[in-house]
Amino acid sequence: LTFVPQQPVNPVSEQVRVPAVVGADLEVPVRGGRLVPYANLDYAASAPCLEPVNAAVAAALPAYSSVHRGAGYASQLTTQRYEQARHTVRAFVGARPGDALVFVRNTTDAMNLLARSLPEGTTVVVFGTEHHASLLPWADAVRLAPPAFPGEAVRAADEALAAIEGPALLVVTAASNVTGELWPIAGLAHIAHRHGARIAVDAAQLVPHRGLNLAALDLDYVAFSGHKLYAPFGAGVLVGRPDWLAAADPYLRGGGAVRAVGETTEWSDDPEARHEAGTPNVLGAVALAAACDALAATGWTPLVREEERLLARLRAGLAAIPGVRELSLWGPDHPRVGIVSFVVEGRPAREVAEILSAEHGIGVRDGKFCAHPFVRHLLGDADDEGCADGTVSAVRASIGIGTTEEHVDRLIAALREITPA
Ligand code: PLP
Repeated sequence: LTFVPQQPVNPVSEQVRVPAVVGADLEVPVRGGRLVPYANLDYAASAPCLEPVNAAVAAALPAYSSVHRGAGYASQLTTQRYEQARHTVRAFVGARPGDALVFVRNTTDAMNLLARSLPEGTTVVVFGTEHHASLLPWADAVRLAPPAFPGEAVRAADEALAAIEGPALLVVTAASNVTGELWPIAGLAHIAHRHGARIAVDAAQLVPHRGLNLAALDLDYVAFSGHKLYAPFGAGVLVGRPDWLAAADPYLRGGGAVRAVGETTEWSDDPEARHEAGTPNVLGAVALAAACDALAATGWTPLVREEERLLARLRAGLAAIPGVRELSLWGPDHPRVGIVSFVVEGRPAREVAEILSAEHGIGVRDGKFCAHPFVRHLLGDADDEGCADGTVSAVRASIGIGTTEEHVDRLIAALREITPA
């Protein structure tokens, strides 16, 4: 990794080699046509590409061909890169020997693959606080109410799983995309297994911010997306127990998923090949693996330290603005990753987000963040059918590698202008 200093330099960057992000010097037009440096505070939607990721993709471009197919040099090399990527991502999440890692498009795709791989009669239990990617793929799930505190989440899962006969799967996020709050996934895994159930963790918002060890946490499945992990679009993974995947109908039917085709078709019983029919997104996999490599080489300690410093600054700034209210399920002191959602009294979230962009060159997200039931719960509004007027919605600021004090301070200053005392 090469360290490319940015302005202003983060204190932590002076000591460790934190990779730079591509586009850190991007300038965007604001009202009147003036160009200002872009303050990207929308990492939870898609994080910018890391420089080492950019370099890995560029290195893979000169010679590529389809994987697992040909004896030609480019095909061999591409196969090697693709399988090396699988190996790297497996190591990044601490997969157990024998766990499958299926490359998919994103977290949504991973959860849908898992939904299609459930053994007959499996009951799915899911919290109503989930992102739609984890809330909706199941034909018929037991939906648990938002728990009032973390122990309540474990208790509610315990109760729900105790009432289920036959196979069960508990689905839960590791870090909320709305509040950034961390969920007690180790406790939930323990409870799930006590009832003979499995647990699938939506780690889309955790892995860009914290290390995750699937084996140590005793999780059965983990899903996440490359584009939130500093790699460009189009690749994600489902990692976990191979048996359900090996027995399920192929997710896509076609070349690569078969052992032999004659009068009948013999599908591959390798869970990875079985669900990866067609030419895969090799560059996406290479990018995702390069991001994993870059984060592993940097180490979580400095990254978490810097994120927590900036997050504390952001939250303190928001708390000091009259009329701005941060959203949280478990209170302001519960640990969280670098994601903060808030409402501005009397101002629709869309209007706030548009002013931040058009007048200040600040990118944030607004709306219900593909977690409609959860945001409605947090805003205390049960009657918001459709929300076409955008009144029941929030603004979300999210940070990561490349975020600076200056970005945070600009957001706070802009919000102060929007909400005059
Ligand atoms: N899960 C969580 C917690 C998310 O934040 C997101 C994206 O916002 C998803 C799942 C879906 O990710 P993707 O759109 O990459 O499938």
